[in-house]
Amino acid sequence: MSRVAVVGAGPAGIAAAVCAAEGGQQVSLIDDNQNEGGQIWRGETAGEWFDRLRGVRVARLQRARVISARDDALRVELPDRALTLRYDKLILATGARERFLPYPGWTLPRAFGAGGMQAFVKSGLDVRGARVVVGGTGPLLLAVAALLRKRGAKVEAIIEQAPLVRVTGFVLALPASKLAQAISLKASLLGVPHLHDRWISEFTGSSVRLDDGRTIDCDYAAVGYGLVPNAEFVELIGPHNNVWQAGECTGIGGVEKSLLEGAQAGHLAAGNQEGAAALQPKIEAARAFAARLEKSFALRPELNSLATPETIVCRCENVAAGALEGMRSWREAKLYTRCGMGPCQGRVCGPAVEFLRGWKPDSVRPPLLPARVESMIGGRE
Ligand SMILES: Cc1cc2nc3c(=O)[nH]c(=O)nc-3n(C[C@H](O)[C@H](O)[C@H](O)COP(=O)(O)OP(=O)(O)OC[C@H]3O[C@@H](n4cnc5c(N)ncnc54)[C@H](O)[C@@H]3O)c2cc1C
Repeated sequence: MSRVAVVGAGPAGIAAAVCAAEGGQQVSLIDDNQNEGGQIWRGETAGEWFDRLRGVRVARLQRARVISARDDALRVELPDRALTLRYDKLILATGARERFLPYPGWTLPRAFGAGGMQAFVKSGLDVRGARVVVGGTGPLLLAVAALLRKRGAKVEAIIEQAPLVRVTGFVLALPASKLAQAISLKASLLGVPHLHDRWISEFTGSSVRLDDGRTIDCDYAAVGYGLVPNAEFVELIGPHNNVWQAGECTGIGGVEKSLLEGAQAGHLAAGNQEGAAALQPKIEAARAFAARLEKSFALRPELNSLATPETIVCRCENVAAGALEGMRSWREAKLYTRCGMGPCQGRVCGPAVEFLRGWKPDSVRPPLLPARVESMIGGRE
């Protein structure tokens, strides 16, 4: 029996833990949230995969963030202590986060990411009667708008940067089950203006301005430009025989892809080659869907000029876009302006700067997430 550590308890991590445990392995499932479920099943406990998780022996560590990793051990920070967790096999299912593109007003109160606002509403933010404009790109915008409407908000408009023709092509190529989902989401948003080929260029606190000059009054702006994989862990640990990745950290493709890749990684960690191979055709189809998603909602070059010289790019260190002028690399920007050196360690501004300036972060170092100093140095095994 091997010790299998699974980092991340979203759909991919849950499927991996279940399949590895069903295959007789000693499994630990680690996640930094209060509850398992990741981004999509946040706070839920019902469903096939939760039932299967309850049916196996898995050590579940919640509110536990993995802050660093070696090739045989993880350093894990809990609210009151830190520990070193040794493993024989490791599955990384660290998911994705929202991509923000800085625009004037994005740091004001009541300016949210689209997924960020969804998370707040799921956690209890009362939006009854509030006027919200949802903007950015990707299918998540519809899911967020539908949830907001269901919770009593008035969705004033959905502003999608991708051209209608590309989005229509994407929708028409959806498999029947996904097409039905898309139609039902769209039906739940009947009457909400849905603009394509447009983007939000400013939030004033009481309205948004679009790129074509029109304004829409609102209380909240919920703006997100797709998702970026949480791939830092993978970069830190590098390729190893006993390490697998699964779910959105390998590329953005939705919950089915995460479940399939998670299940496959769990089977592989349990030595069940046959079970893993049987999933391959479905995984390939899910990856093809991921590629279509990326192409259909690719960011348009005009978004490059959303930020004015005064617009804050790095919220942690208060660095404006103008301060990055003349810099030639991410490293130079860090050294001269502290961009990306605050508590989030570039998790928010990194993808934005990559899009705006084309700079890739030069190295990934522990801690992967903000951590207490004492958590970094030794401690209980
Ligand atoms: C903000 C947001 C909202 C979304 N909303 C929807 C939606 O409404 N509908 C939809 O179909 N899809 C949505 N998605 C896409 C959704 O994430 C995927 O479809 C699916 O949840 C991916 O599953 P996953 O297991 O790969 O990753 P996730 O669900 O992201 O799970 C990864 C888990 O790993 C944890 N983690 C990461 N790093 C560490 C670490 N170092 N230590 C401990 N834990 C760690 C994370 O906290 C998270 O719980 C959303 C994505 C985001 C980012």
